[in-house]
Amino acid sequence: MTSTIATPIFGAHGTSLLDSAIRYSVKMKVAAVFALFIAGTFGACPEIVPRADWGARPPNSVSYQPLPIPYVVIHHAESESCYDLDTCAALIRGMQDEHMDVNGWSDIGFNFLVGDDGRVYEGRGWETIGSHTPGFSSISIGVSFIGTFNDNTPFDIALDAAKLLNECGVEQGYLYPNFGLIGHRQAVSTDCPGNALYDEIINWPNYVPVP
Ligand SMILES: [Zn+2]
Repeated sequence: MTSTIATPIFGAHGTSLLDSAIRYSVKMKVAAVFALFIAGTFGACPEIVPRADWGARPPNSVSYQPLPIPYVVIHHAESESCYDLDTCAALIRGMQDEHMDVNGWSDIGFNFLVGDDGRVYEGRGWETIGSHTPGFSSISIGVSFIGTFNDNTPFDIALDAAKLLNECGVEQGYLYPNFGLIGHRQAVSTDCPGNALYDEIINWPNYVPVP
């Protein structure tokens, strides 16, 4: 017996594959356009945990620095590392208490802190003068990685978050586009931000060997 069923070379199955390939391509284009729209609308900024969300005390006083700001100074907090919001928040509250009650500063010293949870935490923020680097505090943003980074660097998610913060600062007009990035040790005699972290940031965009 011979089959009498005529199967067309390009049957319904072939057509539907082609059809779904076209639909997939259109979907991808729509997704790409949507992603560009999102990026254009919100800028390249990391999510920043506001002070209220880590339980900050109000500052005793606030002084503003003129914008745009010419430097970013990288620090390590010489603390334990933290890997989730609750632990990072507790460490930051402890730092704020020490900076205000022991050092006598008006607030936590740093402008921003970055945890190994990949989150950026608001310290004094973009516009307020910090207390972190003599000679540079009033012309810089002080960014401190939570932990001690003599032997190991922070996690990549933390490093990427800090780089994104810098891009965001430029995009939003807080930082000069050609701002200089330095480690604390380039300004004063200190080990900060730790050997491993310092060896990392010398490869970052905007790093300047001589501030
Ligand atoms: Zn430092």
